[in-house]
Amino acid sequence: MVLVPCPACDHRVSEKAIACPSCGHPGEHERHGAVSVLGRVAGTYISANALAGLVLGSVMFVSVAAVLITLILAGR
Ligand SMILES: [Zn+2]
Repeated sequence: MVLVPCPACDHRVSEKAIACPSCGHPGEHERHGAVSVLGRVAGTYISANALAGLVLGSVMFVSVAAVLITLILAGR
């Protein structure tokens, strides 16, 4: 078990802890997910929900575009 200092109160907290037991600050692990990496790459903070919506929107857009292209090509 690795103990990391809480960013809010410096209480030593397990890096696997969901929140600091001393002050309730969310755990350090939340900053190490794929979402935060993508957010850092984009230069902005993207919440998990916003990212999910963004991905879903992109997939939907590509799907609709693929159907439209197929229809246009088939119509000729
Ligand atoms: Zn704390």
